[in-house]
Amino acid sequence: MSLLVVGSMAFDSVKTPYGEREDAIGGSATYFSVSASYFTQVRLVAIVGSDFPQGELDFLADRNVDLAGLERSEGETFRWKGEYGYDLNTAHTLDTQLNVFQDFRPQVPAAFSESEFVFLANIDPELQASVVEQVKSPRLVACDTMNFWIEGKRDELIETFGMVDMVVINEGEVRELSGESNVLKGSRKILEMGPKTLVVKQGEYGALLFQKDSVFSAPGLPLEEIYDPTGAGDTFAGGFMGYISSKGDMSPAALRRAVIFGSVMASFNVESFSYDRLRTLTQSEIEGRYHQFSDLAHFDRL
Ligand code: AMP
Repeated sequence: MSLLVVGSMAFDSVKTPYGEREDAIGGSATYFSVSASYFTQVRLVAIVGSDFPQGELDFLADRNVDLAGLERSEGETFRWKGEYGYDLNTAHTLDTQLNVFQDFRPQVPAAFSESEFVFLANIDPELQASVVEQVKSPRLVACDTMNFWIEGKRDELIETFGMVDMVVINEGEVRELSGESNVLKGSRKILEMGPKTLVVKQGEYGALLFQKDSVFSAPGLPLEEIYDPTGAGDTFAGGFMGYISSKGDMSPAALRRAVIFGSVMASFNVESFSYDRLRTLTQSEIEGRYHQFSDLAHFDRL
């Protein structure tokens, strides 16, 4: 099955209580693509500047990421600067430089326009909407966002949510967008905006999967070594969408397994800066951690 992603590719400067990295490779679409590439082939639509290293693009291509929809522009690549305190669940944005994103108009190549699964990673909601309009009859369109867009382009974001089947955002974003402090009430409001499925990421505490009449709770894997949570959300989404599109199955049981595969990939990602840990993962490590999650949450019915 075919999986298309549009989102950011970036240089990230990140500081956590465990260290800091300047100009590390990041971006929502980059994390997503590397993570999903462990499950399926990925079609990438994004833009980079002339300063983006060719070696990283070669790495993506070697991982079976199709770069036919990648635009290379003369300007500078998108840059994000953020910091985390001891609460690693909350990123504090220090600086956002849109650079080449300022004039970016995503073009979905003809060969990608019949993609069955589409992920609109964190990017300007108007650009997300323009990608939905260019894909013919996708089976599932899912969407992420962040506070930058909730605060700066709220109406456009709500319009985009009205065009998608599924939203994948974190708990703080549910609160900010819905105006509800209670996550259940906030989630209901977001489902009323249009999507049939909502995944709420809760950082190290796991994730919730909401549909109209059901909720599934995935645990967070207790980890001793968390160096950098940047990209955890996109890596989660890559595991989730990668698994769903590799199986072509959107049954409730498959969606639950997808939440666990998303959690597995995110749990590896936080163990290093950038996506260093995702460079060398093996299928048996992924499966081993899937079973760890299963053991962690398993208990008998009375
Ligand atoms: P996450 O930690 O999964 O929420 O996403 C982190 C990634 O999002 C980083 O690699 C950043 O480059 C990227 N990012 C940060 N701000 C934005 C923004 N306003 N638009 C698009 N991508 C962003």
